[in-house]
Amino acid sequence: MHRLLALFLIPVAVLAIALLPRGAQSAPAADGHTRSITMACSQPVRDVGTGQQVFIGGVPWFAERGQIVLAHEWEGQPVYQFGGRRYLYIGSVTSPARFFIVEECGQPPAAPPPAPQLRQLAADTYVYEHTGYTTIFIVTDEGVIVGDPMGASRSGALKAAIESVTRQPVRYMVYSHHDADHNAGGGVFRDTAQYVAHAAAVEPIARRNDPNSPVPQITFRDRMTLRLGHAELQLSHVGLNHSESSLVLHYPARRLIWAVDFIPVNSVIFGPRSDGDYLPEWVESLRQVEAMDIDTIVPGHGSPGPKIWATWIRESLQDLVGAIQEAERRGMEARSPRMSEFVRSQLYFKYGGWDNFDSRIPVNIAGVYDLWDKFGRFSLN
Ligand SMILES: [Zn+2]
Repeated sequence: MHRLLALFLIPVAVLAIALLPRGAQSAPAADGHTRSITMACSQPVRDVGTGQQVFIGGVPWFAERGQIVLAHEWEGQPVYQFGGRRYLYIGSVTSPARFFIVEECGQPPAAPPPAPQLRQLAADTYVYEHTGYTTIFIVTDEGVIVGDPMGASRSGALKAAIESVTRQPVRYMVYSHHDADHNAGGGVFRDTAQYVAHAAAVEPIARRNDPNSPVPQITFRDRMTLRLGHAELQLSHVGLNHSESSLVLHYPARRLIWAVDFIPVNSVIFGPRSDGDYLPEWVESLRQVEAMDIDTIVPGHGSPGPKIWATWIRESLQDLVGAIQEAERRGMEARSPRMSEFVRSQLYFKYGGWDNFDSRIPVNIAGVYDLWDKFGRFSLN
Protein backbone atom coordinates (compact mmCIF):
# COMPACT_ATOMS: atom_id res chain seq x y z
CA MET A 1 0.00 0.00 0.00
CA HIS A 2 1.11 3.49 -0.75
CA ARG A 3 2.69 4.83 2.43
CA LEU A 4 0.88 8.15 2.23
CA LEU A 5 -2.43 6.37 1.78
CA ALA A 6 -1.75 4.15 4.77
CA LEU A 7 -1.17 7.23 6.86
CA PHE A 8 -4.64 8.58 6.37
CA LEU A 9 -6.63 5.38 5.98
CA ILE A 10 -6.56 4.83 9.73
CA PRO A 11 -8.33 8.12 10.58
CA VAL A 12 -10.64 7.54 7.59
CA ALA A 13 -11.65 4.14 8.93
CA VAL A 14 -12.47 5.74 12.28
CA LEU A 15 -14.52 8.42 10.53
CA ALA A 16 -16.26 5.79 8.43
CA ILE A 17 -17.52 4.02 11.51
CA ALA A 18 -18.61 7.33 13.06
CA LEU A 19 -20.59 8.20 9.92
CA LEU A 20 -22.32 4.87 9.46
CA PRO A 21 -26.05 5.41 9.01
CA ARG A 22 -28.18 3.93 11.77
CA GLY A 23 -28.62 0.25 11.08
CA ALA A 24 -25.76 0.13 8.60
CA GLN A 25 -23.26 -2.66 8.98
CA SER A 26 -19.56 -2.54 8.46
CA ALA A 27 -18.20 -5.40 6.40
CA PRO A 28 -14.65 -6.67 6.73
CA ALA A 29 -12.23 -5.26 4.22
CA ALA A 30 -11.88 -7.53 1.21
CA ASP A 31 -8.26 -6.60 0.92
CA GLY A 32 -5.95 -3.96 2.25
CA HIS A 33 -7.35 -1.35 -0.12
CA THR A 34 -11.06 -1.95 0.02
CA ARG A 35 -13.71 -1.22 2.58
CA SER A 36 -17.42 -1.71 2.40
CA ILE A 37 -20.54 -1.02 4.37
CA THR A 38 -24.13 -2.11 3.90
CA MET A 39 -26.66 0.72 3.93
CA ALA A 40 -30.32 1.29 3.23
CA CYS A 41 -31.13 1.88 -0.43
CA SER A 42 -31.69 5.35 -1.86
CA GLN A 43 -29.39 6.87 0.73
CA PRO A 44 -27.04 9.45 -0.67
CA VAL A 45 -23.52 8.12 -1.08
CA ARG A 46 -21.31 10.43 0.95
CA ASP A 47 -17.72 11.41 1.13
CA VAL A 48 -16.61 9.88 4.39
CA GLY A 49 -14.44 12.82 5.30
CA THR A 50 -16.68 15.77 4.50
CA GLY A 51 -20.05 14.09 4.75
CA GLN A 52 -20.87 15.72 1.40
CA GLN A 53 -22.86 13.78 -1.15
CA VAL A 54 -20.78 12.27 -3.93
CA PHE A 55 -21.48 13.46 -7.47
CA ILE A 56 -20.58 11.52 -10.58
CA GLY A 57 -20.39 13.67 -13.68
CA GLY A 58 -22.46 16.30 -11.91
CA VAL A 59 -25.16 13.83 -10.91
CA PRO A 60 -25.85 13.25 -7.21
CA TRP A 61 -25.35 9.61 -6.45
CA PHE A 62 -27.83 7.52 -4.49
CA ALA A 63 -27.31 3.93 -3.50
CA GLU A 64 -29.64 1.69 -5.45
CA ARG A 65 -30.95 -1.67 -4.38
CA GLY A 66 -28.38 -4.37 -4.96
CA GLN A 67 -25.75 -1.88 -5.98
CA ILE A 68 -22.28 -2.74 -4.82
CA VAL A 69 -19.75 0.00 -4.79
CA LEU A 70 -16.10 -0.69 -4.40
CA ALA A 71 -13.28 1.68 -3.77
CA HIS A 72 -9.71 0.65 -3.94
CA GLU A 73 -6.31 1.89 -4.80
CA TRP A 74 -4.86 1.98 -8.31
CA GLU A 75 -1.36 3.29 -8.86
CA GLY A 76 -1.58 5.19 -5.65
CA GLN A 77 -4.96 6.80 -6.48
CA PRO A 78 -8.27 5.71 -5.01
CA VAL A 79 -10.58 4.23 -7.62
CA TYR A 80 -14.27 3.63 -7.27
CA GLN A 81 -16.37 1.32 -9.24
CA PHE A 82 -20.08 0.92 -9.73
CA GLY A 83 -22.36 -0.54 -12.34
CA GLY A 84 -19.41 -2.46 -13.76
CA ARG A 85 -17.44 0.70 -14.51
CA ARG A 86 -14.41 2.12 -12.78
CA TYR A 87 -13.89 5.75 -11.98
CA LEU A 88 -10.68 7.32 -10.90
CA TYR A 89 -11.33 9.46 -7.89
CA ILE A 90 -10.50 13.04 -8.71
CA GLY A 91 -9.02 14.83 -5.78
CA SER A 92 -6.01 14.91 -3.62
CA VAL A 93 -5.06 11.52 -2.24
CA THR A 94 -3.18 13.24 0.51
CA SER A 95 -6.36 14.76 1.86
CA PRO A 96 -8.24 12.27 4.01
CA ALA A 97 -11.21 14.59 3.99
CA ARG A 98 -11.79 13.83 0.31
CA PHE A 99 -11.55 10.07 0.49
CA PHE A 100 -14.82 8.20 0.57
CA ILE A 101 -15.67 4.74 1.70
CA VAL A 102 -16.96 1.73 -0.08
CA GLU A 103 -20.68 1.20 0.28
CA GLU A 104 -23.08 -1.59 -0.40
CA CYS A 105 -26.80 -1.06 -0.57
CA GLY A 106 -29.01 -3.62 1.09
CA GLN A 107 -32.67 -4.04 1.87
CA PRO A 108 -34.06 -1.10 3.84
CA PRO A 109 -35.79 -2.07 7.10
CA ALA A 110 -39.51 -2.62 6.46
CA ALA A 111 -41.61 0.22 7.92
CA PRO A 112 -45.03 -0.68 9.31
CA PRO A 113 -47.86 0.59 7.04
CA PRO A 114 -49.34 3.87 8.30
CA ALA A 115 -52.71 3.63 10.04
CA PRO A 116 -55.77 4.54 7.91
CA GLN A 117 -56.56 8.23 8.12
CA LEU A 118 -59.87 10.07 7.87
CA ARG A 119 -59.43 13.75 7.06
CA GLN A 120 -62.23 16.32 6.97
CA LEU A 121 -61.56 18.78 4.12
CA ALA A 122 -64.79 20.75 4.51
CA ALA A 123 -68.03 20.58 6.52
CA ASP A 124 -69.42 17.89 4.21
CA THR A 125 -66.26 16.53 2.52
CA TYR A 126 -63.93 13.81 3.78
CA VAL A 127 -60.80 12.16 2.42
CA TYR A 128 -59.98 8.62 3.51
CA GLU A 129 -56.49 7.20 3.10
CA HIS A 130 -55.83 3.49 3.61
CA THR A 131 -52.50 1.70 3.01
CA GLY A 132 -51.45 3.88 0.10
CA TYR A 133 -54.89 4.38 -1.45
CA THR A 134 -57.11 7.44 -1.23
CA THR A 135 -60.81 8.07 -1.78
CA ILE A 136 -63.30 10.85 -1.08
CA PHE A 137 -66.84 11.09 0.30
CA ILE A 138 -69.43 13.82 0.58
CA VAL A 139 -72.16 13.72 3.22
CA THR A 140 -75.62 15.24 2.63
CA ASP A 141 -79.02 15.04 4.34
CA GLU A 142 -80.15 12.63 1.64
CA GLY A 143 -77.19 10.27 1.72
CA VAL A 144 -73.52 9.96 0.90
CA ILE A 145 -71.62 10.11 -2.39
CA VAL A 146 -68.37 8.16 -2.22
CA GLY A 147 -65.48 7.56 -4.64
CA ASP A 148 -63.58 4.32 -5.09
CA PRO A 149 -63.93 1.43 -2.61
CA MET A 150 -60.13 0.87 -3.08
CA GLY A 151 -60.22 -2.92 -3.22
CA ALA A 152 -61.88 -5.64 -1.15
CA SER A 153 -59.26 -5.39 1.58
CA ARG A 154 -60.11 -1.72 2.20
CA SER A 155 -63.80 -1.25 1.41
CA GLY A 156 -65.00 -2.58 4.77
CA ALA A 157 -62.80 -0.10 6.62
CA LEU A 158 -64.07 2.67 4.30
CA LYS A 159 -67.66 1.77 5.22
CA ALA A 160 -66.79 1.93 8.91
CA ALA A 161 -65.08 5.31 8.41
CA ILE A 162 -68.20 6.72 6.72
CA GLU A 163 -70.39 5.32 9.51
CA SER A 164 -68.12 7.01 12.05
CA VAL A 165 -69.26 10.45 10.83
CA THR A 166 -72.83 9.94 9.57
CA ARG A 167 -75.85 7.65 9.76
CA GLN A 168 -76.72 8.50 6.16
CA PRO A 169 -76.50 5.59 3.69
CA VAL A 170 -74.21 5.63 0.65
CA ARG A 171 -76.43 6.49 -2.34
CA TYR A 172 -73.80 6.78 -5.07
CA MET A 173 -70.41 5.15 -5.50
CA VAL A 174 -68.31 6.77 -8.25
CA TYR A 175 -65.54 4.63 -9.78
CA SER A 176 -62.50 6.69 -10.81
CA HIS A 177 -61.57 4.29 -13.67
CA HIS A 178 -61.70 0.61 -14.47
CA ASP A 179 -58.52 -0.61 -12.70
CA ALA A 180 -59.50 -3.24 -10.13
CA ASP A 181 -57.10 -2.07 -7.44
CA HIS A 182 -59.24 1.08 -7.11
CA ASN A 183 -62.80 -0.10 -7.82
CA ALA A 184 -63.01 -3.68 -6.52
CA GLY A 185 -64.79 -4.31 -3.22
CA GLY A 186 -67.71 -1.92 -3.76
CA GLY A 187 -70.23 -4.67 -3.06
CA VAL A 188 -70.30 -3.72 0.63
CA PHE A 189 -72.45 -0.70 -0.35
CA ARG A 190 -74.81 -2.68 -2.61
CA ASP A 191 -77.86 -2.46 -0.32
CA THR A 192 -78.18 1.31 -0.73
CA ALA A 193 -75.86 2.50 -3.53
CA GLN A 194 -75.98 2.98 -7.27
CA TYR A 195 -72.68 2.69 -9.12
CA VAL A 196 -71.48 5.45 -11.42
CA ALA A 197 -68.57 5.40 -13.91
CA HIS A 198 -67.36 6.46 -17.32
CA ALA A 199 -68.95 4.29 -20.03
CA ALA A 200 -65.58 2.76 -20.96
CA ALA A 201 -65.30 1.26 -17.46
CA VAL A 202 -68.37 -0.98 -17.84
CA GLU A 203 -66.97 -3.69 -20.09
CA PRO A 204 -63.67 -4.32 -18.25
CA ILE A 205 -65.45 -4.40 -14.88
CA ALA A 206 -68.18 -6.73 -16.19
CA ARG A 207 -65.51 -9.00 -17.69
CA ARG A 208 -63.93 -9.48 -14.25
CA ASN A 209 -67.17 -11.11 -13.16
CA ASP A 210 -66.42 -10.35 -9.53
CA PRO A 211 -69.56 -10.53 -7.36
CA ASN A 212 -68.00 -8.01 -4.98
CA SER A 213 -67.47 -5.48 -7.84
CA PRO A 214 -70.87 -4.19 -8.98
CA VAL A 215 -70.94 -3.19 -12.65
CA PRO A 216 -71.73 0.54 -13.04
CA GLN A 217 -75.41 1.24 -13.77
CA ILE A 218 -75.12 5.00 -14.38
CA THR A 219 -72.60 6.00 -17.03
CA PHE A 220 -71.62 8.98 -19.19
CA ARG A 221 -69.16 9.75 -21.98
CA ASP A 222 -68.31 13.46 -21.75
CA ARG A 223 -69.88 14.84 -18.61
CA MET A 224 -72.77 14.48 -16.20
CA THR A 225 -74.11 16.22 -13.14
CA LEU A 226 -74.64 14.16 -10.01
CA ARG A 227 -77.01 15.73 -7.44
CA LEU A 228 -77.80 14.54 -3.95
CA GLY A 229 -79.21 16.74 -1.16
CA HIS A 230 -77.33 20.04 -1.23
CA ALA A 231 -74.41 18.66 -3.22
CA GLU A 232 -73.98 19.11 -6.95
CA LEU A 233 -70.97 17.32 -8.51
CA GLN A 234 -69.70 17.50 -12.07
CA LEU A 235 -68.26 14.27 -13.44
CA SER A 236 -66.25 14.71 -16.62
CA HIS A 237 -63.97 12.90 -19.00
CA VAL A 238 -60.94 15.05 -19.82
CA GLY A 239 -59.59 12.76 -22.52
CA LEU A 240 -57.30 9.75 -22.50
CA ASN A 241 -54.56 9.70 -19.90
CA HIS A 242 -53.82 6.92 -17.41
CA SER A 243 -56.73 4.92 -18.87
CA GLU A 244 -59.65 5.22 -21.27
CA SER A 245 -62.14 5.40 -18.44
CA SER A 246 -60.59 7.93 -16.05
CA LEU A 247 -62.98 10.58 -14.79
CA VAL A 248 -62.66 13.79 -12.84
CA LEU A 249 -65.05 14.28 -9.93
CA HIS A 250 -65.43 18.02 -9.49
CA TYR A 251 -67.15 19.56 -6.47
CA PRO A 252 -67.37 23.24 -7.43
CA ALA A 253 -68.76 24.34 -4.05
CA ARG A 254 -65.55 23.11 -2.41
CA ARG A 255 -63.25 24.11 -5.29
CA LEU A 256 -61.76 20.63 -5.46
CA ILE A 257 -61.46 17.64 -7.73
CA TRP A 258 -60.79 13.98 -7.08
CA ALA A 259 -58.82 12.35 -9.90
CA VAL A 260 -56.99 9.04 -9.70
CA ASP A 261 -53.64 7.91 -11.09
CA PHE A 262 -53.13 10.65 -13.67
CA ILE A 263 -52.34 13.54 -11.30
CA PRO A 264 -50.22 12.11 -8.51
CA VAL A 265 -49.47 14.56 -5.70
CA ASN A 266 -45.85 14.66 -4.54
CA SER A 267 -44.89 11.64 -6.63
CA VAL A 268 -43.64 10.92 -10.12
CA ILE A 269 -46.14 9.06 -12.27
CA PHE A 270 -46.52 5.29 -12.22
CA GLY A 271 -46.27 4.50 -15.87
CA PRO A 272 -46.51 5.21 -18.67
CA ARG A 273 -47.65 1.69 -19.43
CA SER A 274 -48.11 0.64 -23.02
CA ASP A 275 -51.24 -1.36 -22.18
CA GLY A 276 -53.40 1.57 -21.19
CA ASP A 277 -51.65 4.92 -21.05
CA TYR A 278 -51.81 7.70 -23.62
CA LEU A 279 -49.03 10.22 -23.21
CA PRO A 280 -49.77 13.12 -25.63
CA GLU A 281 -53.44 12.91 -24.67
CA TRP A 282 -52.44 12.79 -20.99
CA VAL A 283 -50.69 16.16 -21.38
CA GLU A 284 -53.83 17.59 -22.97
CA SER A 285 -56.06 16.27 -20.19
CA LEU A 286 -53.78 17.88 -17.60
CA ARG A 287 -54.15 21.18 -19.45
CA GLN A 288 -57.92 20.81 -19.08
CA VAL A 289 -57.53 20.34 -15.34
CA GLU A 290 -55.21 23.36 -15.22
CA ALA A 291 -58.00 25.40 -16.79
CA MET A 292 -60.49 24.39 -14.08
CA ASP A 293 -61.42 26.87 -11.34
CA ILE A 294 -60.28 24.81 -8.34
CA ASP A 295 -57.84 24.97 -5.44
CA THR A 296 -57.33 21.35 -4.40
CA ILE A 297 -56.58 17.99 -6.00
CA VAL A 298 -57.45 14.82 -4.12
CA PRO A 299 -55.44 11.97 -5.68
CA GLY A 300 -55.96 8.19 -5.67
CA HIS A 301 -52.76 7.60 -3.71
CA GLY A 302 -51.38 9.78 -0.94
CA SER A 303 -52.66 13.06 0.45
CA PRO A 304 -54.45 16.01 -1.18
CA GLY A 305 -52.39 18.83 -2.64
CA PRO A 306 -52.80 22.18 -4.36
CA LYS A 307 -53.93 22.54 -7.96
CA ILE A 308 -50.40 23.37 -9.13
CA TRP A 309 -49.70 19.62 -9.15
CA ALA A 310 -51.57 19.34 -12.45
CA THR A 311 -49.03 21.74 -13.98
CA TRP A 312 -46.07 20.06 -12.32
CA ILE A 313 -47.14 16.61 -13.48
CA ARG A 314 -47.63 17.91 -17.05
CA GLU A 315 -44.14 19.42 -16.98
CA SER A 316 -42.66 16.22 -15.55
CA LEU A 317 -44.07 14.23 -18.50
CA GLN A 318 -42.77 16.75 -20.99
CA ASP A 319 -39.36 16.90 -19.31
CA LEU A 320 -39.11 13.10 -19.18
CA VAL A 321 -39.67 12.73 -22.92
CA GLY A 322 -37.46 15.76 -23.63
CA ALA A 323 -34.59 14.26 -21.59
CA ILE A 324 -34.87 10.93 -23.43
CA GLN A 325 -34.77 12.74 -26.78
CA GLU A 326 -31.73 14.73 -25.65
CA ALA A 327 -30.01 11.50 -24.54
CA GLU A 328 -30.61 10.07 -28.03
CA ARG A 329 -29.19 13.20 -29.64
CA ARG A 330 -26.06 12.60 -27.58
CA GLY A 331 -25.80 9.09 -28.95
CA MET A 332 -26.95 7.11 -25.92
CA GLU A 333 -28.46 3.73 -26.44
CA ALA A 334 -32.20 3.37 -25.83
CA ARG A 335 -33.07 2.11 -22.32
CA SER A 336 -29.37 1.84 -21.39
CA PRO A 337 -28.04 2.50 -17.86
CA ARG A 338 -26.13 5.46 -19.34
CA MET A 339 -29.40 6.89 -20.62
CA SER A 340 -31.02 6.38 -17.17
CA GLU A 341 -28.13 8.17 -15.54
CA PHE A 342 -28.40 11.08 -17.98
CA VAL A 343 -32.19 11.39 -17.70
CA ARG A 344 -31.86 11.28 -13.94
CA SER A 345 -29.34 14.12 -14.01
CA GLN A 346 -31.63 16.20 -16.24
CA LEU A 347 -34.66 15.72 -13.99
CA TYR A 348 -33.03 15.70 -10.58
CA PHE A 349 -33.07 19.36 -9.65
CA LYS A 350 -36.75 19.80 -10.49
CA TYR A 351 -38.13 16.43 -9.40
CA GLY A 352 -35.50 14.75 -7.18
CA GLY A 353 -37.51 15.45 -4.02
CA TRP A 354 -40.67 13.72 -5.26
CA ASP A 355 -41.65 10.26 -4.04
CA ASN A 356 -40.52 7.34 -6.19
CA PHE A 357 -38.13 9.52 -8.22
CA ASP A 358 -35.18 7.14 -8.20
CA SER A 359 -37.08 3.92 -8.59
CA ARG A 360 -39.20 5.16 -11.50
CA ILE A 361 -36.52 6.56 -13.82
CA PRO A 362 -35.62 3.36 -15.73
CA VAL A 363 -39.23 2.11 -15.61
CA ASN A 364 -40.64 5.34 -17.02
CA ILE A 365 -37.97 5.51 -19.75
CA ALA A 366 -38.93 1.96 -20.75
CA GLY A 367 -42.59 3.01 -20.72
CA VAL A 368 -41.94 5.87 -23.15
CA TYR A 369 -40.13 3.49 -25.52
CA ASP A 370 -42.97 0.97 -25.27
CA LEU A 371 -45.43 3.70 -26.26
CA TRP A 372 -43.19 4.83 -29.13
CA ASP A 373 -43.06 1.23 -30.33
CA LYS A 374 -46.84 0.97 -30.16
CA PHE A 375 -48.01 4.36 -31.45
CA GLY A 376 -44.98 5.76 -33.26
CA ARG A 377 -42.77 8.62 -32.19
CA PHE A 378 -44.28 11.64 -30.48
CA SER A 379 -42.92 14.68 -28.71
CA LEU A 380 -44.63 16.37 -25.80
CA ASN A 381 -44.87 20.12 -26.16
ZN1 LIG B 1 -55.03 2.85 -12.31
